[in-house]
Amino acid sequence: MTEPQAPPAGPAGRPSYHAVREAQTGYVYDRAPMLVYWELTRACDLACHHCRAEAISHRDPDELTFDEATDVLQQVVEFGPPLPHLVFTGGDPLKRGDLEALVREAARLGIGASLAPAATPLLRREAIVRLRDAGIQSISLSLDGSCPDQHDAFRGVPGCFDQTVRAVNWVAEAGLPLQINTLVTDRTVADLPAIYRLLTAWPVERWSLFFLIAVGRGQALRELDPASAERLMDWLYDLAADSPFAIKTTEAPHYRRVAVERMRAAGWDGARIRRSSVGRGFGIRDGNGILFISRTGDVTPSGFLPMAAGNVRRARLVDLYRSSALFTALRDPSRFAGRCGRCEYHTICGGSRARAFAHTGDPLASDPLCPYVPA
Ligand code: SF4
Repeated sequence: MTEPQAPPAGPAGRPSYHAVREAQTGYVYDRAPMLVYWELTRACDLACHHCRAEAISHRDPDELTFDEATDVLQQVVEFGPPLPHLVFTGGDPLKRGDLEALVREAARLGIGASLAPAATPLLRREAIVRLRDAGIQSISLSLDGSCPDQHDAFRGVPGCFDQTVRAVNWVAEAGLPLQINTLVTDRTVADLPAIYRLLTAWPVERWSLFFLIAVGRGQALRELDPASAERLMDWLYDLAADSPFAIKTTEAPHYRRVAVERMRAAGWDGARIRRSSVGRGFGIRDGNGILFISRTGDVTPSGFLPMAAGNVRRARLVDLYRSSALFTALRDPSRFAGRCGRCEYHTICGGSRARAFAHTGDPLASDPLCPYVPA
């Protein structure tokens, strides 16, 4: 599974989420998430070592039907404008024959949508063009190594690197913004500079570095230690100053704390910090600006935090997000335990709730990847 972010503009005729957020003073997403990740299917022809969904080649017979899926789209509309941005993910969403119809229906309803496909032979030039014409606004692809040996070893299928390169060109030909997602573990960290150099020659809009959460098949891999993660974030901050594309982290919100410390040291005032690309992401974390819908309709705070507040087959998405005990707790950083609970950065950061859960079983615990010790 890959995780794109919303493109900067909102659906046609509607204010972008960032525009609305900039007019607000807090960082609480009580009304609606900014991003809804929707795992359309578990099926995928890759065998990625870190797959959250533990994807297999065939579909789960209990997946949401087309009629149930169109009802999910109606449930997204119930949040009201500005609508969340929808990310069709998986597994491989191309394994669902009704993907194009769902994209078309999302567009008809005014929901902005992105696609996170797997780089397999299903991802063809014609498929990308058709999905663009149906309403897909951006695409994300995964790249976990700077060369075929490195990348294909992670993806579990020879030829995946070459297929990714072909898909990058087709996405560019289709005129769609491209996000590249890269896994950060102790096995990929040394290759990140080479991946960055490769990406500078590609038509990339955003590079998202996903800091491993040990769920699904990812339990066989190792996260960075906190000191290495901190060094990596300093490197990323320096890189972002001259990078031809935006750089962001996923499941590592304490990059915001590192960036704010660096900006303050450089003399930036609060208004300038909030206007920065990092500032526009303040507060977003699992359950606060983000929600995830599983292939069978379970609603969780993210794909990496497997606690369900309910299911779209029996409850409305808007009620689960706004009112469930799980989501309301995750939106209140004063309820976080340990360092994240007493940290002066917890409103803009709050730590990875998924990692806290993976390590302790408590989604309100401290994020163990962050070495910061609040005063
Ligand atoms: S202690 Fe928690 S809230 Fe504070 S910067 Fe680290 S992860 Fe973020």
